[in-house]
Amino acid sequence: MTRWDAETAVVGLGAWGAAALWRLASRGVDVVGFERFTAGHTLGSSHGCSRMLRLARPEHPGLVPLARRSKELWEQLTDTERDTASGRESLFTACGGLAIGPEDGRVAGGTLRAARAHGVPVRTFTASALRFRHPRHTGVPRRHIGVWEPSAGVVRPEPALRAMLTAAEQAGARVATDSRITQVEHIPGGVRLHTPHASLTARQVVLTAGAWLPALLPGLPLQTVRMPLARFRELETDSGFDPESFPSFRRELDDGRILWGSGTQDTQNVSLALYDGMGEGKPFDPEDTDRSVSAEDWSDLARLLPAKVPGLETVPARVAVGTRTHAPDGMYVLGRPGGDPRVIVAGGAGIHGLAQAPGIGEAVADLATGTPSPVPLDFLSPDRFN
Ligand SMILES: Cc1cc2nc3c(=O)[nH]c(=O)nc-3n(C[C@H](O)[C@H](O)[C@H](O)COP(=O)(O)OP(=O)(O)OC[C@H]3O[C@@H](n4cnc5c(N)ncnc54)[C@H](O)[C@@H]3O)c2cc1C
Repeated sequence: MTRWDAETAVVGLGAWGAAALWRLASRGVDVVGFERFTAGHTLGSSHGCSRMLRLARPEHPGLVPLARRSKELWEQLTDTERDTASGRESLFTACGGLAIGPEDGRVAGGTLRAARAHGVPVRTFTASALRFRHPRHTGVPRRHIGVWEPSAGVVRPEPALRAMLTAAEQAGARVATDSRITQVEHIPGGVRLHTPHASLTARQVVLTAGAWLPALLPGLPLQTVRMPLARFRELETDSGFDPESFPSFRRELDDGRILWGSGTQDTQNVSLALYDGMGEGKPFDPEDTDRSVSAEDWSDLARLLPAKVPGLETVPARVAVGTRTHAPDGMYVLGRPGGDPRVIVAGGAGIHGLAQAPGIGEAVADLATGTPSPVPLDFLSPDRFN
């Protein structure tokens, strides 16, 4: 009989924790997941508008195999959902993705370089061809290009999270919601996890608490900032913002900022956000549950619209404030801090983490079971800043 209440415990069931739970349970690991709120709540990062999945990842070559594996697993989960819950909304759609910007820039140029380096099929077109194909993007300088990645797609966070948790439970995982872990106590050969009312022992713990990670593991080099995302109504209905005409995109502006978003989906308005770059944004304490919005959250973006994306109201119909957590180099952290065999940490998913969740969950399962990972993970080591 085992001396542990669970072989592995996962703390935090956002996208990364749910994926870790799913991939661990599907290997037969005795695993329990804890979530301090309800599954799919709106105070973390894994809710709201659809998330882009791109294979041609310019940020680091190591992200490409993770993205490829994630896509395979999303497709697998989507097929399972189709079989078991026909009529339910799709969690992953391979609808392609667009990158716009200078050829030597980080968005279109970066995508093109990553695609060439990793054999990801893309099509490129000039600024004038872009104006013809996607006329809602205006004011694109002549020296900019468009890069179309047909294998890219979008993930819907809520159904995706539900599907991963369901798959985890079907494979034997236990899920405890409204269960906040207040302390991770290191004990010989394992950990004792404390909630306000009980404690549980496990041989190892996977910490996937997003913006709350530093509270559980002090010293992790992660920073969290506010991340507003606005939804704009079309001035006229059916005016070229459907997903085919105005697909998920990232567009590098002349001042280096990145405008990104996607067209109308179902009954949703057009989603848009402006990314100033790493290190920008207001620091955010995740314990602060105030997600109220001010004009400061959307006015810079709205000012750009008439010149860059005309045809939308310039006051958003809705603004939601999410959070973005990242390490100083903009990457994630994934690994065993200090080589501790009792702890795995996976977090700092930044603005690209949701789509990568299944690949991350798989990498966590490799680490937890001592299986050599086919994907090199050293570049994500939590100790790389020491
Ligand atoms: C506006 C916006 C747009 C984005 N666009 C994209 C995109 O296009 N593509 C993409 O791939 N990604 C995108 N992202 C990023 C992506 O959503 C995040 O990287 C991802 O959701 C992070 O998941 P996570 O599981 O690490 O964190 P979270 O979702 O925050 O999950 C952490 C969980 O841990 C729980 N928790 C914390 N502390 C405890 C505790 N002590 N005990 C128990 N539970 C605890 C929390 O309640 C929470 O549920 C976007 C993010 C935002 C905000």
